[in-house]
Amino acid sequence: MSQNVHVEAALFRHLLDHSVIPLIGSAIGGSLVGLAHMDSPYQQQVLVWLFVLYATIVIRALLTKRCRSRFKEMGYSRPEAIRYALTTGLSGFAWGMGGLFVLDASPLAMVVTITAIQAMIMGGALTLGAYLPSFYAFSLPAILPLVVALGLKGGGTNIVLALYSAIFLVLMLDIAKRLNHSLRDVWKLTFEKEYLLSELTKANDHQKTLANTDGLTGIANRRRFDDVLAQELARFSRTNSPLSLLILDVDHFKTFNDAYGHVAGDECLKQIAEILKKQFNRASDMAARYGGEEFAIIMPDTDERGAIQKAEVIRSEVAKLNIQHGHSPTAGYITVSMGIVTLYNSDIREANDLIAMADECLYQAKADGRNRFVSTRLKHDVLQRPSCEDNLEEAYCDVGP
Ligand code: GH3
Ligand code: MG
Ligand code: MG
Repeated sequence: MSQNVHVEAALFRHLLDHSVIPLIGSAIGGSLVGLAHMDSPYQQQVLVWLFVLYATIVIRALLTKRCRSRFKEMGYSRPEAIRYALTTGLSGFAWGMGGLFVLDASPLAMVVTITAIQAMIMGGALTLGAYLPSFYAFSLPAILPLVVALGLKGGGTNIVLALYSAIFLVLMLDIAKRLNHSLRDVWKLTFEKEYLLSELTKANDHQKTLANTDGLTGIANRRRFDDVLAQELARFSRTNSPLSLLILDVDHFKTFNDAYGHVAGDECLKQIAEILKKQFNRASDMAARYGGEEFAIIMPDTDERGAIQKAEVIRSEVAKLNIQHGHSPTAGYITVSMGIVTLYNSDIREANDLIAMADECLYQAKADGRNRFVSTRLKHDVLQRPSCEDNLEEAYCDVGP
């Protein structure tokens, strides 16, 4: 929706929100005019006119209700808004008919009628002015019959009253237009402010994402990792639900870079990050690039068994990439080593202690021959036991706390 249509919709909503007061005004004004003409010889016609006026009020009240609920359900529709605005013309015509009574009225009834019509138009300029088609539809048929009738009847007083009413109409049209422009400006400014605010929020969010994302791999960076680990450790101290941390390091990556170049090295890191993204898609898990060719994964609510299963999946998925590494003494392709630490009812509360423990395990895995993982309580040689799952029970029995 363009900004202009947005403004138009807001003005129409303003009209709907303020449509009750003109109806009440119309009912009160009509009653006063009726009373002023009560002892006239055309009392019958006045009663019929009152009936018509009240009927238009009821019809407009019902249409307003319907239009409000349609606006809520389906939003703004210009043709429908204009159609609704034109229904204010019903009241305009009713008041126009009332204006014709002045031709044979007593001076008092004449003054009451003209004043009532002008009051209706003045009120209309302030309320219906929000949506100009509505104000035109009301004001023109409401006062023009009076102006024409007085003009045609002739005579000094009538001509003056006709001119006075015509000038009044012109003034009110101008006021309604000015009010409409002011409201438009207010809404334009409001929308511009909302737009700027949303752009600012978007830019802020983008900035935050950038600040938390690793440029090469698109996963979380070290900064985000530090934040999340601190949060998870705090949660761990409250819940004592197991918390696992895994640190992964690419084996013999220096020689890979030396042999195949940095671009190939970067590509390799990206592919490993893709595996991590795919494997750690639980909202609570978080894989990050810890630095250089090292990655770290935080796994809340994950026990040692779960963390080991994940480590084995990562190890085998990286092996499946089959990225040739002719200079690796471990295998002819890129492999990774991992250190895992799982906290149960531990006293550890410091992120650095946890990282140091996972690091120790990682160095142990490196020392044991790489392409494997070591957990704080478990040493598991994946080269000899390709599926961690198959040997899990045994593995748990192997190593004590
Ligand atoms: P190890 O098996 O003991 O981990 O040996 P390694 O060669 O992987 O370890 P080392 O720490 O000696 O070398 C890490 C290498 O990782 C050095 C550096 O060139 C490379 N590296 C670090 N960050 C990046 C990166 O962003 N892109 C590329 N292409 N290489 C990187
Ligand atoms: Mg390293
Ligand atoms: Mg390495």
